[in-house]
Amino acid sequence: MSSIYVDHAATTPMVESALLAMTAQLAQLGNPSSLHTHGRATRKTLEDARETLAKEIGSLPSEVIFTASGTEANNIALKGLYWAGREVGKKIVVISSIEHHAILDPAHWLATHEGAEVIEIPVNSDGVINLDFLKDLVKTRGEEIAVISVMHANNETGAIQPVSEVVAIAGEIAVHTDAVQSFKKVPLSFAQLGVTAMSLSAHKIGGPLGIGALILKRGVEIPSLLHGGGQEREIRSGTLNAPSIVAFATAATSSYYNAGAVVGLRDRFISSVQALIPDAVINALAAARLPGIVNVTFPGTQSDTLLLLMDGQHISCSTGSACSAGVHEASHVLLAMGHSEISAQSSLRFSFGATSTASECDFVVSVLPDVIARGRAANLP
Ligand code: PLP
Repeated sequence: MSSIYVDHAATTPMVESALLAMTAQLAQLGNPSSLHTHGRATRKTLEDARETLAKEIGSLPSEVIFTASGTEANNIALKGLYWAGREVGKKIVVISSIEHHAILDPAHWLATHEGAEVIEIPVNSDGVINLDFLKDLVKTRGEEIAVISVMHANNETGAIQPVSEVVAIAGEIAVHTDAVQSFKKVPLSFAQLGVTAMSLSAHKIGGPLGIGALILKRGVEIPSLLHGGGQEREIRSGTLNAPSIVAFATAATSSYYNAGAVVGLRDRFISSVQALIPDAVINALAAARLPGIVNVTFPGTQSDTLLLLMDGQHISCSTGSACSAGVHEASHVLLAMGHSEISAQSSLRFSFGATSTASECDFVVSVLPDVIARGRAANLP
């Protein structure tokens, strides 16, 4: 076996049809904002892609705002909805305690630089938000809340969050959801969910890196982060990245991801780990979860050591979110679920994707007992 990739939640290979669409578009000349024939041709291709993506996510085409990443979509949504709320005296930003850093960090930036009060919704031991906490908060301080942001599914544990219930509790308050991990993995419709805004990212679904979308309800106006040519409803200026957008839409329509097959691999992996390493803890096991993500705590180990031992076996997995890997700190997600610093630092995330196979899954399982034993020996005082 050469190298094995079980880090599809960090990024996943491009689907071939998207790669072909992207390379074809790279050869085309024309700024979509230009009025001449070249420009109009690119504009037409782009608007077709917008329509395709809108159909896949259940929104209107005019509700799709292309961005350079999921991170950018999150920043535009959170900061924009906060600033819009602040104009009418609302200064509270509500987020869940398990958000990706692309929500967590802008929220804390709003607190330190823009006068926001940030309130975090706690989660239970399976990593699912406490709706009673939110209900009480909305009842007592609802008038002061500018925005509520709750991710659709968590990137470290895969736990799916009750976003429809959040929308029902929120009433008139703007709700944003980071659906970067959920899009194309579980049924998802912007219109049916009823949120104000939703973030997506292409590279999690077989599209290219560096392209995302903010889906923003028609009629909602928010201040912009980037000023310039006035593209994308004047919310996100910048010449549109036509090749990546075309590839994003192509990936969104491909049937490359088979959720049932990925669930099968995930569950095969979980039962093997439970059989071979009885004290391993599968995190968020009782929650509704995404098909591909498994987060496991191996008591008595250090995740960084395990990651390197796995890498030595040519297996790529993760200590959690790719964006915080490399930073030596316990996962805020696992801490919020009740883990201690020590057990939160003894966990690995394995994520399966469209190209994962049963033999890859079995190979990962086969090396785990030795890796864990060596990880434990290395961790002895
Ligand atoms: N939100 C979640 C839940 C993610 O998992 C990620 C990426 O890991 C992001 C946001 C950031 O998306 P991007 O990599 O497109 O900036």
